[in-house]
Amino acid sequence: MNEYPRSAYVHVPFCHRRCFYCDFVVIPLGNKVETLQGYGSKTVKEYLHLLYKEILSIKHKSPLSTIYIGGGTPSLLDPKQIKELIDLFKENYGVDYGAEITMEVDPASFNQDDLFGFINAGINRFSLGVQSFNDEILQKSGRRHLREDAEKSCLWLKKVHDCGLIKSWSLDLIQNLPLSKLQEWEEDLKKAIKFSPPHISIYDLNIEDGTVFKKLINLGKLQLPSDEEAFRNSESTNLILKSSGYSRYEISNYCLPMHQSRHNRVYWSGLGWWSFGQGSTSSPWGEKLTRPRGSKEYKKWVIEQYEHNLDSSLTNKDYVYKELDEKIMLGLRLKEGIDLYELFKEQNWENKKFERNLSKLIEEWQRFLESGLLLRKGNRFFLSDPKGMELSNQILISMFKWWDEIN
Ligand code: SF4
Repeated sequence: MNEYPRSAYVHVPFCHRRCFYCDFVVIPLGNKVETLQGYGSKTVKEYLHLLYKEILSIKHKSPLSTIYIGGGTPSLLDPKQIKELIDLFKENYGVDYGAEITMEVDPASFNQDDLFGFINAGINRFSLGVQSFNDEILQKSGRRHLREDAEKSCLWLKKVHDCGLIKSWSLDLIQNLPLSKLQEWEEDLKKAIKFSPPHISIYDLNIEDGTVFKKLINLGKLQLPSDEEAFRNSESTNLILKSSGYSRYEISNYCLPMHQSRHNRVYWSGLGWWSFGQGSTSSPWGEKLTRPRGSKEYKKWVIEQYEHNLDSSLTNKDYVYKELDEKIMLGLRLKEGIDLYELFKEQNWENKKFERNLSKLIEEWQRFLESGLLLRKGNRFFLSDPKGMELSNQILISMFKWWDEIN
């Protein structure tokens, strides 16, 4: 474990409007978002000012090897603002040569000039939120962009990647959106592959409280793919992407060789990361710290941290171990799974306790090992693909039950 985190997440909460499934921390700015002079400029500038204060409030900094600018819709920012942000890290933390610097972009929120501006600012990896190429599905999901916008953005990213101007890019889709039956979903996947993105994220639709989708479901006005349809969609995802050369290196992520997201691996591997911005969660020493979700509360929090020198929660050097259950949960998301014996050793349990707890967990998992959802090679346990990855919840529930029992 490095002394200080080498990865930073930055949250840019601005969006044109809120999509129907989204419960992220978002500040909708409407359509007139000209971030240097226009309608949204004051709100954006004020937010960036707070964000910079927060970034500077960390006292003990190490050079970063990954930066991830997520949102929201970071591509609503001007390239000059993105440059300012990256320069702030360069000047105050240092950024490794060859660091992975990712930015989320949404179709119809940037043009080709912006793209070159972002690249000149230092971005070398993009994550494009396509979600679907089907206009009807996009519209039903409250997305602002159309298929045509998504296709244009994919072509631009493909071009800059083919020319070697960026290291990688990811095309992100959402599985099981309304109206997305097998045929529509397969069309989305095949369309995505045509642009040869080196990385594809497939997120399963989750229905969150407070979203338009949740309200429509409660009113009986939203029809989502059934469980069987959802399972068929997943099977098809696996088949189509794997036959096109993509490997599933994590439950929701596929890539061509050498294109795993280094930043995301930090989260799943349990390494520490900084995080900046409204509602974002950092975990510098294993202990998670979430910033306030509301704008006023976030402002107050940053001012307290910065002006009253209250960053002890951010700079506490005593490493707090992640609980074992969380390590198992995160590790199982990865293709390579977990070495259970290594994880158990970190607990420093005396021999008898070690053996007792281990055999109890393996006993819990026996039925999953027998049914092939979970696989074992020596001390390493990992989910089978696709069955285990699709039904991972069952395995995790049994693990949490075991964790409750032994504590
Ligand atoms: S663009 Fe992304 S962050 Fe913004 S509202 Fe839609 S889903 Fe949420």
